[in-house]
Amino acid sequence: MSLQAFVSRRVTTPEGIRGAAILVEGERIRAVVSPDRIPADGYRIHDFGDVAILPGLIDSHVHINDPGRTEWEGFETATRAAAAGGYTLLVDMPLNCLPATTTVAALEAKRKAARGKCRVDWAAWGGVVHDNQGEVEALAAAGVRGFKCFLINPGIDGFTMVTEPQLRAALPHVARTGLPLLVHAELPGPIDKATDALVNADWNCYSTYLQSRPDGAEVAAIRLMLSLCREYGFRLHIVHLSTSHALGELRVARAEGFPVSVETCPHYLHLSAEAIAKGATLSKCAPPIRSRENREKLWEALGDGTIDLVVTDHSPCPPAMKRLAEGNFRTAWGGIASLSVALPLMWAEASRRGFTLLDLARWMAEAPAQLAGCEMRKGRIAPGYDADFVVFDSDDEFTVTEDRLHYRHPVSPYLGETLLGVVKATYLRGSPVFAEGEFPGEPRGREYVANARVRSTP
Ligand SMILES: [Zn+2]
Repeated sequence: MSLQAFVSRRVTTPEGIRGAAILVEGERIRAVVSPDRIPADGYRIHDFGDVAILPGLIDSHVHINDPGRTEWEGFETATRAAAAGGYTLLVDMPLNCLPATTTVAALEAKRKAARGKCRVDWAAWGGVVHDNQGEVEALAAAGVRGFKCFLINPGIDGFTMVTEPQLRAALPHVARTGLPLLVHAELPGPIDKATDALVNADWNCYSTYLQSRPDGAEVAAIRLMLSLCREYGFRLHIVHLSTSHALGELRVARAEGFPVSVETCPHYLHLSAEAIAKGATLSKCAPPIRSRENREKLWEALGDGTIDLVVTDHSPCPPAMKRLAEGNFRTAWGGIASLSVALPLMWAEASRRGFTLLDLARWMAEAPAQLAGCEMRKGRIAPGYDADFVVFDSDDEFTVTEDRLHYRHPVSPYLGETLLGVVKATYLRGSPVFAEGEFPGEPRGREYVANARVRSTP
């Protein structure tokens, strides 16, 4: 079995950032020791000096679109972009691929599509849609990490929203699996009402799009989900929180001990509505990017633990769908892809607010691992864990260019921006999957599976 020692003066462990040697035996971490305690023989030493080593990042919110919409993205390109961005595990959303992952057969089709193509590890969320309540427990037994549903039309063929009665029919099944339910929390009522009032507005202005998706739509959806969580006792996870107006109620629910977790995304923490130019549809996503003031409140919520994790919601599309020539925020595809640049995007913003690499490791590795139920194997630099690392030069800078994006279509609102921190290398289970701009070796990523925690029916 190969023996390696990864050395840095800034190894990010759960206990703190310190000078250490990570001793790796085969694919796993055997020990984390002081650099002068590396055993005398047999170890191949990689000394990164002052360049930091973080746990491999985990993105629990990615749309890989494979099978079925591989002209948008695919396992090959998404996992390549992930490796370049320091990610070692992606959890794929059940929609945008065809078939959507709402049945065991669809999950099997996804496994077939992934075979031999992945540069990093992956896992799948299952979908809860209007009519698949009977599939929920079978999907859990087949290995999905949890479930995703929409309270509003997702705007894509192949995946349906759930009404409250449809959701209530699914929740006892979800609760029995013990797995989390991830919710796109916007209710259609407030959005329809706001959109009706904007018929004559200029849809090339970002402010029109922002007005069409009011804070109240998110707040009402989160309120509904918190009440259902109290009633059914399932694990609730709010995806891509954009409004700060829901933070008060989320704080109360958490203080009361309800099993609620919350994520937000780099674009909500980096961009702001005030800075989005007319027609700049590359910045369209749902829920929308809101004001600068709102953004600062999201940062405060990360600081006090109301928001647990940061994920990309990597949601690419072919360039034409962004309608850049027309610049119409009503018709453009909503989705921002950022797998290759999320860590530097976050680092620039986090470091200027006094956060450290330890916070990034918690938000972008440890907490997503917990959500996806792989916290005993992934997301930490600690003995027994997979030897997944990102080697990150946090003092270096680079400018975002198309050749640094690596996903299928290099469409990005960040092109031309200079970001702080460069991913030098990414190691998956002890082997490099990205190093100095190259992707060494054959794709060796595999599905993360563990025994499903299906509880017996009472
Ligand atoms: Zn998404």
